[in-house]
Amino acid sequence: MSINSKSSRFLNRLENILIIGNGGRENSLAWAIQKNELVNKVYLIPGNAGSERINKCERINIDLNNKNELVEKLEFLKIDLIVIGPEIPLANGLADFLRKKAFKVFGPGKDGAKLEYSKSWAKEFMRDAGIPTASFWKVNSLEEAKKIIHSSSVPLVVKADGLASGKGVFVPESKEESIKAAESIFSGKFGKSGEMVVLEEKIQGPEVSVFTLCDGKKYILLPTAQDHKRIYEKDKGPNTGGMGAYSPAPLITKDYLDEIIQKIIQPTIDELNKKNINYKGVIYFGLMITKSGPKVIEYNCRFGDPECQTIMPLLDQNFVLLLEKCSMGKLTGDEIIDTSDKVSGCVVATSKGYPNEYKTGFPIKIGKIDSDNCQIFDSGTTLSKNGKLLTDGGRVLSIVCQEKDFDMVFEKAYKNLKEINFDGIYFRNDIGHQVRKNLSKKN
Ligand code: AMP
Repeated sequence: MSINSKSSRFLNRLENILIIGNGGRENSLAWAIQKNELVNKVYLIPGNAGSERINKCERINIDLNNKNELVEKLEFLKIDLIVIGPEIPLANGLADFLRKKAFKVFGPGKDGAKLEYSKSWAKEFMRDAGIPTASFWKVNSLEEAKKIIHSSSVPLVVKADGLASGKGVFVPESKEESIKAAESIFSGKFGKSGEMVVLEEKIQGPEVSVFTLCDGKKYILLPTAQDHKRIYEKDKGPNTGGMGAYSPAPLITKDYLDEIIQKIIQPTIDELNKKNINYKGVIYFGLMITKSGPKVIEYNCRFGDPECQTIMPLLDQNFVLLLEKCSMGKLTGDEIIDTSDKVSGCVVATSKGYPNEYKTGFPIKIGKIDSDNCQIFDSGTTLSKNGKLLTDGGRVLSIVCQEKDFDMVFEKAYKNLKEINFDGIYFRNDIGHQVRKNLSKKN
């Protein structure tokens, strides 16, 4: 490594960006970042087949665990900014490692990622900061869990403490179901993530996602979003990674957002500082809007997927500059993200069987897709030896559209989705039902 290549990283250069991750979230980040004219190249480790259709993007095949090779490659490529997409590398301290090697990194260190990778820690964090959230109990054994569930007058939500790809949360209808959930977690099926369990009061209300870009001290807000977690229409069936989303969420008015800032967002930033956590990345607030006000259901230390795909097309080309400012601790807090006057909606197409077992390797046909205000972001795709696009995951791709209102957005999304086909394709037809006037008239 030459001295020049290392020192150039401290200049305000944004020619070469690296994104770590392989999902729809990372493809939408790459798409939004390449829009800035300062950006010459966006590398993805590892990305997926869809990354190759995005302007300026190139995939790199390298093992993130091979640290020496990774640093050598990033220095060779003169990477100016690294954006870490998924929670697992963040929880494993990848951001800390890369920062120590003098890279600019957007993504919290291991200490900040704990907001997501330990539910009990996050609950104690909220309790310390007086942030509204459901009351909770932390338990280390099935006996302890049973005692609390039996003595409670209502069924309790049961959560594995650690990361479980969204599968470690059970929202039971009865005490028996709560006990079954606790038994299932303590049976060891989540490994280390299930050694501790959090029991929570079950609260009620619509859910909304709020995202902030944080530089350690200051933050800025992105447009709000609502996603659809359940596999079937009318929000029925098991939870998935997310079947679709829309943004912004009309439920959150300006006044309500002010309340969320005052009761939840600012106290979170203050508590991070109190705990000496220099958090540079996204803080995702998963909120429930209850009768007694907004409450935090969970924190994530990264962008939600598919909310990210939904929000990115609403942002202007300066988005990448904000990520860089966060990575350097240089937000003023007064930056304005120029958001579009349009609204955005996203529908996810999955493999038959998802979120349970499914087959992959089916050819994907893409017909004539609108070129304006309509994007396809691949989540689980690969290329065959002869360059054919194939399914390669449970969530295969999403179609995202922007229009003046949500009826127009979803009309466009579903019209374009008809142009996409693969064996066993499944999607919900009612994404955005809360905000589609035409749909509520039909029902
Ligand atoms: P989490 O992974 O903690 O966000 O939980 C997944 C989903 O479970 C949330 O999006 C909620 O729909 C539901 N959930 C989690 N915690 C609670 C709670 N305390 N009360 C009611 N529903 C909950």
